Amino acid sequence: MLDKNNIINNLIKKAGVDITVDQAAAIKAYIDLLLETNKQINLTAIVEEGEIWRKHILDSLLIFCALAVPPGARVIDVGTGAGIPGFILKICRPDLHLTLLDAQQKKVKFLEKVVTRLGLNGVECLWGRAEEVGQNKNYREKYHLAVARAVAPLNTLAEYCLPLVQIGGFMAAYKGPTGEQELKEAAGAINLMGGTATKIWQRQLPGGEERRILVIVKKERVTPPAYPRRPGLPAKRPLK
Ligand code: SAM
Repeated sequence: MLDKNNIINNLIKKAGVDITVDQAAAIKAYIDLLLETNKQINLTAIVEEGEIWRKHILDSLLIFCALAVPPGARVIDVGTGAGIPGFILKICRPDLHLTLLDAQQKKVKFLEKVVTRLGLNGVECLWGRAEEVGQNKNYREKYHLAVARAVAPLNTLAEYCLPLVQIGGFMAAYKGPTGEQELKEAAGAINLMGGTATKIWQRQLPGGEERRILVIVKKERVTPPAYPRRPGLPAKRPLK
């Protein structure tokens, strides 16, 4: 009989990514902390370990099939929540410099606990709103890659993420089947934020039926200084 670890290993290989035994152990330690803390604060609706591996971990790793992330790249995870996908990318690519950004302080405290327990270097846990961080010169146009998963529709997300991306860098939005439609509705916002050359990358999540879409946008022009607008506006009045 195949044990659970084998099944997970096979799914990860099937997805086209590979992780070492040490990386799998670090991810397992992260999952244990996530589930333990989830009893006190709501961090994940998925609580079965195998499903966490498939729907959170495997899903996070798919970006490595879709986009070459250069060594030592600066990456920001906008609306990271419990650290997904950011922590998973960092565990599998320790060379990355990672900023984990979330608007909820209790989640950021959890992120800090994970960094300490796992002994991760080169991770900044930032409590704040994307709208404010995008106007802060220490963060604005400083990242090679901004990722976001389950945060907002793509038109809002473009205003959260693209101001943080340097010219020549990318924004990658983790989406489900709505990704293509969201992209049609976000074309104007992406263009206004300086993004072009959009690519849709899709795959069925191994071990199930779920269709996953990564919308990858290249940043080719500077974002006008008026964006992102003040907190709340990108969600309330998304750019057309
Ligand atoms: N990315 C994680 C995942 O895939 O599990 C968390 C998703 S959770 C549904 C959305 C998170 O985005 C929440 O933790 C919320 O606080 C954060 N968020 C929403 N809008 C934000 C904003 N404008 N700035 C920073 N964080 C934001």
